[in-house]
Amino acid sequence: MRIILLGPPGSGKGTQAQLLLQRYGIVQLSTGEMLRAAVAAGTPVGLKAKEIMAGGGLVPDEVVVGIISDRIDQPDARHGFILDGFPRTVPQAEALDELLKHKHMKLDAVIELRVNESALLSRVETRVAQMRERGEEVRVDDTPEVLTKRLASYRSLTEPLIHYYSERRKLSTIDGMMAIDEVTRAIHRLLLALGAIEPKSHNRSAAKSAPAKTVAKKAKAAKKPAKTAKKAEKSAKSAKKTAKKAVKKAPKTAPKRAVKKGAKKAAKKVTKKRAKR
Ligand code: AMP
Repeated sequence: MRIILLGPPGSGKGTQAQLLLQRYGIVQLSTGEMLRAAVAAGTPVGLKAKEIMAGGGLVPDEVVVGIISDRIDQPDARHGFILDGFPRTVPQAEALDELLKHKHMKLDAVIELRVNESALLSRVETRVAQMRERGEEVRVDDTPEVLTKRLASYRSLTEPLIHYYSERRKLSTIDGMMAIDEVTRAIHRLLLALGAIEPKSHNRSAAKSAPAKTVAKKAKAAKKPAKTAKKAEKSAKSAKKTAKKAVKKAPKTAPKRAVKKGAKKAAKKVTKKRAKR
């Protein structure tokens, strides 16, 4: 399953992505997370992105497209992924279309989490408070000033993606103002309706049961050769028996008998002739 979560900062993309990946066993590809990791590690990408991110701007398209392209190639993304925070611009969406086409992959859905802008500031404030409570480092761009910039950039650069994906019949919109678990349920129903998941994927264990099914199938298939071997052994044995029987009845003896019979006849003839004489 490959989906995109679309929505402004604070719309719950990250929260939903976390819940979905637990449920369906797929990976979350968050460009924001990857860039923060790059900044923390001081990589060349991180050094490039650091200031831009702190100011609430967007990192150049080619940088994030490169990161995503590499990440999609990782083995853990084989079963599917949720793109969170990417694409953020139309050129990024076009680049994504290209690279998915190149990798022979298909997007199942683009899910827009629609929220009231008035709720976003308080949501981000809650996120900051929760991160502080957990003793986590608070994001430098989670301040009211930077959030205003990030929102403005969402409106001008990311919102056009709603049109982009709706034109391509990929867009589904979900009310992101509902409670977290209600949003998760709505996403689940949507994925079911789209056929992106099987009806049994209700929880993590169910999600795991899909591969398990494959394993069971494989096990069955693996048993088959054993069965076939047994069958072959059986038929070899019966073939041996038949062969033995065949050997007993064998035409092998027939020529012998024929020879004997022939010899007897010849002998009788000779005796008769002698008797005549
Ligand atoms: P996020 O965690 O998604 O809110 O992203 C945090 C910051 O990382 C953004 O404000 C941008 O500076 C940068 N960023 C994340 N994803 C992208 C992207 N797809 N394109 C450009 N910049 C991005």
